Amino acid sequence: MPASEGGCWVWTGARTNNGYGAVRHRGKVEYVHRIMAAAHGMNIDGRTVDHLCFTTNCVRPSHLLVCSREENTRRQRSNAWRSVVAELMDEINGVRGQA
Ligand SMILES: [Zn+2]
Repeated sequence: MPASEGGCWVWTGARTNNGYGAVRHRGKVEYVHRIMAAAHGMNIDGRTVDHLCFTTNCVRPSHLLVCSREENTRRQRSNAWRSVVAELMDEINGVRGQA
């Protein structure tokens, strides 16, 4: 089961080489954060599930954001986006200075 760590639900099970929690689901390997997003009513088809917290193995639904692949790439390049995310995470966690 995921453990609580800094507000994140950190997946402690199997991970892929790039650090994402993964499980075998219907015969293929799926990212746990994608399953969690789908389980909470988010439409993930053909989309990227981004981490607001930048913790690759976090599976907390409130830390996940579904976006198009183009948006995801653009945001990763944008410092402005990172500061928006930082503010959002402050609200979620109620703490400043969270890595
Ligand atoms: Zn998180």
